[in-house]
Amino acid sequence: ELDTGDDADEDLKPRPPVVTIMGHVDHGKTSLLDALRGTDVTSGEAGGITQHIGAYQVTLKDKSKITFLDTPGHEAFTEMRARGANVTDIVVLVVAADDGLMPQTIEAINHTKAAGVPMIVAINKCDKPEANPQKIRERLLEHEVIVEEMSGDVQDVEVSALKKTGLDDLMDKIQLQAELLELTANPDRNAEGTVVEAKLDKGRGAVATILVNRGTLRVGDVFVVGAESGKVRALIDDKGRQVREAGPSMPVEVLGLSGVPMAGDPLQVVDGEAKAREIAEYRQGVLNEKRTAQAPA
Ligand code: GDP
Repeated sequence: ELDTGDDADEDLKPRPPVVTIMGHVDHGKTSLLDALRGTDVTSGEAGGITQHIGAYQVTLKDKSKITFLDTPGHEAFTEMRARGANVTDIVVLVVAADDGLMPQTIEAINHTKAAGVPMIVAINKCDKPEANPQKIRERLLEHEVIVEEMSGDVQDVEVSALKKTGLDDLMDKIQLQAELLELTANPDRNAEGTVVEAKLDKGRGAVATILVNRGTLRVGDVFVVGAESGKVRALIDDKGRQVREAGPSMPVEVLGLSGVPMAGDPLQVVDGEAKAREIAEYRQGVLNEKRTAQAPA
């Protein structure tokens, strides 16, 4: 396997947090993702049209950034983790204030705890007359999620994805949590990233959304991704714009892959196309062996 080494402390620079939204069905994950996306101060810029590439980045008033994975739910989260990809820094747990803690809420709490990822609770649908946020806090206590008001260390925030209230407060709390985590990466090295989503596109061929973990990915870079290889032909951001490069915590669509990798696969930039093909072929071989071994006799 490729050993790409550790970075020296002095090369580490702050990077934006990567956030996953989890919660029970219909509690408002998709609505909240859309509402948060709408707070981007750069969203009015010329040439940009919202693209759903599996992740997006919001720029806040103070120019700081937050990355959201926009495949909500714990399936994506657990699948990625099962494949060794721990890209989430912070989980936002959405709980509908008119519904309470439901089975998938509790599953999400368990997955988040197992992953050791800090959680922020967004109590959603607070615009509803029957909303009872205090009851949610009490129920959370039963699952050992203790909010600050009850002298715990889990931040909570009352929001309405529908009325777009509490969103700035939620962003502030994500930033606060991110500061505590002191998230850093070395931007000045060959890029490493993780596949968030991948598909075969009619016009463009194999396309993968990569979340850059460290280094900077550039047009022309040669890479291995899972059992595929390639050379970056173009990079497209979450607003559909071509970009020359993508640094840590930035999601981009990558064009120029030999085939379609799997979500959770690692991407590594390597020196030379021959080497990239050789590693990809070796990995293809390992995959084929596994398939043969699993096939019924
Ligand atoms: P998901 O299944 O968790 O992604 O939930 P959705 O975002 O699809 O929302 C489920 C339903 O709840 C939709 O009908 C939304 O319009 C509604 N909804 C989401 N957020 C709010 C909110 O803050 N207030 C109210 N009143 N309805 C909401």
